[in-house]
Amino acid sequence: MNYMDFHCHLDMKAFDHNRKEIAAEFFNSGYSRLVTAADPYEENSFTKTQEILSYHKNIYCTAGAHPHGADRYTPAIEKSILRFIPENRAVAVGEAGLDFHYNLSTPENQLKVFKRQIAIAQELQMPLVIHSREAETLVLQALEEAKFQFPVVFHCYTGNMKDAREILKRGFYLSFSGIVTFRQKKTDYLRDIVRETPLDRLFTETDSPYLAPEPFRGNPNTPLLVRYVAEKVAELKGVPVEELNRCVNENFERLIKGALL
Ligand SMILES: [Zn+2]
Repeated sequence: MNYMDFHCHLDMKAFDHNRKEIAAEFFNSGYSRLVTAADPYEENSFTKTQEILSYHKNIYCTAGAHPHGADRYTPAIEKSILRFIPENRAVAVGEAGLDFHYNLSTPENQLKVFKRQIAIAQELQMPLVIHSREAETLVLQALEEAKFQFPVVFHCYTGNMKDAREILKRGFYLSFSGIVTFRQKKTDYLRDIVRETPLDRLFTETDSPYLAPEPFRGNPNTPLLVRYVAEKVAELKGVPVEELNRCVNENFERLIKGALL
């Protein structure tokens, strides 16, 4: 069935021993598309991503500077992103944004680098894939200030309902990960957000190797487990999973055409 994984990290070490097999199983199982996020701070990420893209035509990538690394941003990194994207079936700049939960780089540098990623996306006329933790308001503000006019996807959305509504109001998208399957009261609010998100504004993703969905929680995650995310999202939306997948794939097609709703 045509499950789509909108965001994973197949370039990571965790997949060094099996990324090719996983990609083969993904498409042999009839799954439709996957998007792997390249990381310009990691020395081999771009070469590994190129290899991954060669496995199948329905593998896409994103490339951008993650907020965690903002203290290490350089003009050379920026140049490498600008060079990589047009040549490598990239569908968006990202993941980029702000992370005020971990604050692995200073908030000032995170904001500075995020603004550069917005500028890169403007220059390349591409969508943005956002990483935001406890920073949704500021992310939206930066996009507004830049008058960003291309599609925006908040990947692995974990923000609150109020910010989700603001995001949707602007015509942007929410991508949901395995967290929606976690059997914990504290993740109930996220399931409410899924229920409120229109079918033409959402994506399913694994964020693998992180965040394995139930019933595999705590184990290594792979793009194959997107099935469990999609089944849960479909259940919450009250539609058959085939229908959910069809919508996600349509959303992707619209996204890569660059059209806002
Ligand atoms: Zn992220």
